Amino acid sequence: MSAIESIDALELLDSRGNPTLETTVTLKNGAQGRAIVPSGASVGSAEAVELRDGDGRYHGKGVATAVNKVKSRIAPLLQDHGEVDQSTVDSLMIELDGTANKSALGANSILSVSLAFARAQAAEQGLPLYRHIADIFDGDEMRMPVPMMNVVNGGAHANNSLDIQEFMIVPVGMSDIASAIRCGAEVFHSLKQALHRDGHGTAVGDEGGFAPNLQSTSDALDYLCTAVADAGYTIGREVVFALDCAATEYYADDRYELVGEGESYDSSEYCEVLRELALKYPIVSIEDGLSEVDWQGWKELTNLLGDSMQLVGDDVFVTNPEHLQRGIRAGVANSILVKVNQIGTLSETFEVMRIAREAGYTTVISHRSGETEDTFIADLAVATGAGQIKTGSLSRSDRTAKYNQLLRIDADADHAGYRGLREFPQHL
Ligand code: PGA
Ligand code: ZN
Repeated sequence: MSAIESIDALELLDSRGNPTLETTVTLKNGAQGRAIVPSGASVGSAEAVELRDGDGRYHGKGVATAVNKVKSRIAPLLQDHGEVDQSTVDSLMIELDGTANKSALGANSILSVSLAFARAQAAEQGLPLYRHIADIFDGDEMRMPVPMMNVVNGGAHANNSLDIQEFMIVPVGMSDIASAIRCGAEVFHSLKQALHRDGHGTAVGDEGGFAPNLQSTSDALDYLCTAVADAGYTIGREVVFALDCAATEYYADDRYELVGEGESYDSSEYCEVLRELALKYPIVSIEDGLSEVDWQGWKELTNLLGDSMQLVGDDVFVTNPEHLQRGIRAGVANSILVKVNQIGTLSETFEVMRIAREAGYTTVISHRSGETEDTFIADLAVATGAGQIKTGSLSRSDRTAKYNQLLRIDADADHAGYRGLREFPQHL
């Protein structure tokens, strides 16, 4: 338990140059914690609401109102409350907000306080953040996550004709996180050379992956195969692939409209397209293969592919305990993407992860396409033993900051003698 002395907030910028919120929580004994919140582009419709000013500043994207909510509503409540822990802080804010989707105070305001408080408590105890989170999550073992590295960006994250949003390499056959990150970086550079050789652009998209103007999903996956081989790794054994289709973005009038490829499919046909892709390439995980509203299709996809691969629900679950429970009952997906700002507090994030685990669903901690230098999710992934992390490519400091933090945690765990944590999983 800790008593809060003061809470302050600032408007600053995210990786896309849009405003976001940084909050600093100071405890009575002087310990401080600070957190910056991320922001998505392919946002699920049931996500907790991010407050934006909508006025003339920053093309309407200012967060002055959210900053003000932290200072004038949340701070007085928490400062006056005496000793609090994480779950009390989060419950008090949820209660003060009073809406189902955090639209009164804003999920961005609430989350910034929730995460900054966790950091302040870690500082108070002189613990690295991951060890403090592990204490309050009280789950199984801490462990290093397998990274899913998004090296080709399409969809809403790039100005190209790729319909699918994320083409990820997953280094599964590595001995530790340092080798996995090295593998990712080497494949990333081989990919750059291969694209350049063929006259494609090598500028990067929002998540630091290349955004070449390729014509089809297969073209992108073929380049991944080339890059893995050129970097000297074995496809299917050392490196496998994962996709985030973000299919809600190209679903209209009950059809999957792949404008870049010039194809249109109904739900069943698109399930078959995904199945064929997974047969042709070593794809072990597909996120949002179908739209957030196509629950019937999701069931069909889960029946078709759920036994042989990971099917991750992002827009369809929005890190929300109720949506996930509905999905579990309906037999939708077998894995959940966990984005702290989709739900808005650390405690609710824990809740959703516990529900997933009990149902045998895997968990993937995730960044947003609009990120910052904040590395909270790296600690969160290790501390909760999530198993996997999705935090972009091997370029852009907003992405590599998380990989760098995983390396620091690995070194800290080595010193502290946490051997189990450092073991690197050989599969998802
Ligand atoms: P977003 O993308 O942050 O733009 O939503 C990430 C994802 O869809 O997983
Ligand atoms: Zn997604």
